[in-house]
Amino acid sequence: MSASAFPTFTIEGYPRVGANRELKKALESFWAGRIDEETFTSSAHSIRVENYARLRDLGLDQDYAIPADVALYDQVLETAVTVGLVGGEAPEIDLTEYFALARGNAERSPLEMTKWFDTNYHYLVPEVSADTIITPRPQRILDIVNEAKAAGHVVRPFLVGPVTLLAKSKATEDAGEGFNPLSRLDDLTNAYQTILAELNDAGVEWIQLAEPALVADLTIASDEELATLAGEVYGRILGEENRPQVLITTPYGALRAGLDALVAAQPEALAVDLAPVTLGNEEGYVARVAEALAGTDITLAAGVIDGRNIWAADLRERLAVLEELKKGGVEKLAVTSSVSLQHVPHTVAVEKNLPVDVAGWLSFADEKIGEAQALAAALEGGSVAAADAFARSDRAVRTRRESARTHNQAVQDRVAALPDGQVAREPEFAGRVEAQKSLGLPQLPTTTIGSFPQTTEIRKARADHRSGALTDDQYTEALKDEVKSVIELQERLGIDVLVHGEPERNDMVQYFAELLDGFVTTEHGWVQSYGSRCTRPSIVVGDVSRPEAMTVEWAKYAQSLSEKHVKGMLTGPVTILAWSFTRDDVPKSVSADQIGVALADEVADLEAAGIDIIQIDEPALRELLPLREEDRPAYLDWAVRSFRLVSLDAQPTTQIHTHLCYSEFGQIIDAVAALDADVTSIEAARSRMELLADLDESFHSEIGPGIWDIHSPRVPDVAELTELIKAALVNVPTERLWVNPDCGLKTRGYAETEQSLRNMVLARDLVVESL
Ligand code: GLN
Ligand code: ZN
Repeated sequence: MSASAFPTFTIEGYPRVGANRELKKALESFWAGRIDEETFTSSAHSIRVENYARLRDLGLDQDYAIPADVALYDQVLETAVTVGLVGGEAPEIDLTEYFALARGNAERSPLEMTKWFDTNYHYLVPEVSADTIITPRPQRILDIVNEAKAAGHVVRPFLVGPVTLLAKSKATEDAGEGFNPLSRLDDLTNAYQTILAELNDAGVEWIQLAEPALVADLTIASDEELATLAGEVYGRILGEENRPQVLITTPYGALRAGLDALVAAQPEALAVDLAPVTLGNEEGYVARVAEALAGTDITLAAGVIDGRNIWAADLRERLAVLEELKKGGVEKLAVTSSVSLQHVPHTVAVEKNLPVDVAGWLSFADEKIGEAQALAAALEGGSVAAADAFARSDRAVRTRRESARTHNQAVQDRVAALPDGQVAREPEFAGRVEAQKSLGLPQLPTTTIGSFPQTTEIRKARADHRSGALTDDQYTEALKDEVKSVIELQERLGIDVLVHGEPERNDMVQYFAELLDGFVTTEHGWVQSYGSRCTRPSIVVGDVSRPEAMTVEWAKYAQSLSEKHVKGMLTGPVTILAWSFTRDDVPKSVSADQIGVALADEVADLEAAGIDIIQIDEPALRELLPLREEDRPAYLDWAVRSFRLVSLDAQPTTQIHTHLCYSEFGQIIDAVAALDADVTSIEAARSRMELLADLDESFHSEIGPGIWDIHSPRVPDVAELTELIKAALVNVPTERLWVNPDCGLKTRGYAETEQSLRNMVLARDLVVESL
């Protein structure tokens, strides 16, 4: 083991898709057969080495300062393939097999995909059993190191650590009752040791192992259990001589029991998340970290640069955190980001349409590297460049605090006048059910979740409108034609409660962000969501208000085309916040209240326009759930309140729907009940209505468990749909059951949509006949 020092500043990871989403384009061309394997491999290579060069130019020019957290699809899959947790005995995994794991093929379904901690990134979930053969494939990581070296860079290879990899895996279907993936930790550790030995033989001096499992309360094991396991595993790994020096990172929150366990194992470097939001949630964390590290030989990589958010750091305040660590006795101190920068866009520099003041307040991945560099320089007594950076930071902090863009007194007064604590719509549910009989809905009413297929014509019209080839009026006409045909289709199919199809919405959050005051949107601010999928989160910059009605014209137009009820369609406050970058100068709950009352005005306007069924989508309710159990009740409280604010003053005769997707409802089922919607539609087809069995009396709302899994182009037949409706009726009384798909139909084609919806209505008719 060599002893080259840890770089004075670094980052935990960097966006992988490329500044212009080159990886996305290469992946999609390859999958579509437009480019061959060689071309794909060579573009993936260029993207990686161009990123290294960019990082070096940005200042990461010390050896091992550049993290090689590269992956063609997902870093968890990449690690699982490298350490051999997936792929069986095969000594190598070729591209075909790699993408079969990620995306499935004709014979196999893909690995399940789910949220990576509390981020908007999705990872692939490895499946493990007692029989899983673990075959380490060190050549993969050696290739990455060598490729970088050939291009002139000494990079720091990256793997998800063994504890986190297993804690975030799941048991295979045939693993047997009670099998816990963590029971394979010893075997898996052998694989890591093999890889570390090979890296050492190849002259690699540092490796990064990410262990975020230690900052979260997971169901698979308690915090103490995970800490004990980590202590054992790292005791083994670090006790071995033939290995590079190890940096263990612990992003996404504060360590509890894990802190002492990791320090006791004595890695050469330990990174902790010291972002303002983490410190706000975990009182005394800085002091605790200092105490644990004081007097040890471990380099503390202090994650003071917030990798979760896009705000320029308050460098003076951040430097104070570093000084506190030093004063607390931490001798070896380096600066890093709190988490990988993969969760923020590349650079503010390419955003030409941002208001200039706002541009100065922002810091994306590249700018954050500059901040880390300035802090590292300041720790060593400062530099001219650091002084500049501090001056810019001071200006950003001051102008943002004083800006009229961030503070709207009228909004603040309105929200301050709201009652504290929970609010409740009146009359209670039972009274509203009576009032809503006036809607005249049939038994087991059919509906859809909102969007209809986004046709190529609509996408083209949107692009043409953006480029100026279509005038506003022409674009509106094109959208109106689409709404009309969506209404006609639903009439033809005999659906009871119609939707307008949402063709005017590029995205269910950005659409509202563009119409509300207090948000800005970017042109190039793409962030990888999974594989080749990227999203462009909007940014909440200040107090939020609604300058004018946002959805009323579309709802009114759609309603004018039919005698049936057409649903008004809104995105709820929690989902708007979950899929945006949020403010760091007020708690999320403040923005949630503000969005809540803005949407309440929209509800009133929809009612005035004759819309009597309004859906408020909250598919992201579960996503913001804090990683630590003790923080969850407070979150659910404000989340539920903000939803209730939207519907608080709705007429009793107005039927409020909500929609949530992703099937794991266990932890939030009470909160979903507490939303107090009149009708709740949820994803349920794949789990075959399983979750309905968990509903108790407190869940009073009518419910539409999805019977058509819209994630696949497969058309469910009438028999299958009939059976699912009957299965739902085992747990839900007839008068409370709705019939609908799992989610919106945006990603489906018209042919399969039409057939599936026809079958859905037929199935409902058959069940009603048999009642
Ligand atoms: N109303 C939205 C749609 O149908 C809901 C999308 C979602 O739940 N993600 O597209
Ligand atoms: Zn959905």
